[in-house]
Amino acid sequence: MTATIGDAEAAVPTAWGTARLLAGTRAGRLDLARHRDVHDVPRRSERGSLADALDAVGLLGRGGAAFPVATKLLGTRAGSGTYVVVNGSEGEPASHKDRALMRLAPHLVLDGALAVARSLRTRKVDLVVQDRAAHASLAAAVRERRDARGVRLVHHDHGFVGGEVRAVTRALSGGPALPPGRRVLPTVHGVDGRPTFASNVETFAQIALLLSLGVDEYAGVGAADEPGTTLLTLLGDVPHPGVVEVPTGLPLSALVGERPGPVLVGGYHGTWLADPGELTVSRPTLRSAGAPLNAGVLARLPHDTCALGEVATVAHWLADQSVGQCGPCFFGLPALAITLDQLAVGRVATEAARQRARLLVGRGACAHPDGAAAFVASALTVLDREIAVHRRHGHCGRPLLGVLPTGGGPVTR
Ligand code: SF4
Repeated sequence: MTATIGDAEAAVPTAWGTARLLAGTRAGRLDLARHRDVHDVPRRSERGSLADALDAVGLLGRGGAAFPVATKLLGTRAGSGTYVVVNGSEGEPASHKDRALMRLAPHLVLDGALAVARSLRTRKVDLVVQDRAAHASLAAAVRERRDARGVRLVHHDHGFVGGEVRAVTRALSGGPALPPGRRVLPTVHGVDGRPTFASNVETFAQIALLLSLGVDEYAGVGAADEPGTTLLTLLGDVPHPGVVEVPTGLPLSALVGERPGPVLVGGYHGTWLADPGELTVSRPTLRSAGAPLNAGVLARLPHDTCALGEVATVAHWLADQSVGQCGPCFFGLPALAITLDQLAVGRVATEAARQRARLLVGRGACAHPDGAAAFVASALTVLDREIAVHRRHGHCGRPLLGVLPTGGGPVTR
């Protein structure tokens, strides 16, 4: 079965095995009363003891960078001027797990955000959301509880790069939603120049679970190197498309199917693997294998679409996301996408595209060009047979189905 992102979005998010983040959501959104039936109130925790618990379960950020959350918390100065930013911008069109969580379990996200704020002795909590339904769900949740009166809910629709955490903190400070041209750490210089603990919505929900379950119960499921569960978006020719919550340690093949063939791990800043083999869902394991999980997108292309065309379409979309601050990214990404078009009609060899991708690495102020280069370079490797057919015939004979979504808007070609 081939699933588009529309099918994936329409599918009810489901938990495989232990439901934690999605517990109680089969019947729909959890209001505060139903939330409290399902989840205990998180234990109050000082910053040091919260960091110890986070360290004990090795919690990594669930947005993309997979940074150790305990380290980030200890690196953020506590005080009333400190900000907590919950990043729910989810600008990648292939990912739907964050909006599913915010729509269905908004109080779990709020529990985590407020617990982190208390541990940092601040009331400044900013929730940044792009999706309208997720925004409405969180707005209703904020109205339902007295302890969320200080929460600021911000609609943030600034695309993929604009959802990068430093672009978000810059926008919240009244600036443009662009990553700054120099390396700055939000923990030191974040919103309004203040120390800021910023992370993805799922990270905060995981913190809430940790504080209500305790370390031992939290770590009672999942892989030894990253215990617990995680949210994923499954897309394309997979047995069960849509958003799923799974225990870490599950084989990738259980999620994307057993048949041989390329699999995309980590979405549009991710990596194509020729075959998932014995790999499992674990951020440390996948990072070691050179295929970071990033925001948790796993995709497999069906046989009846032009795979090279799918990759070129995403490359054009990635080029459109560049905000033009850095020349190598602004000029290099469109050049790479055009080279893929030429590859598809057999006008250039693979090495020309490889060379274009190599020129992008390490050349931007943010991770966008590196991520785009990884996506394209790995595709060039795993699609070698398809590319050979294009080189010989100028096409592969298959239509371009648009299995990899680009948000419905125009893509510059
Ligand atoms: S690397 Fe690209 S996306 Fe990132 S800041 Fe520079 S121009 Fe913008």
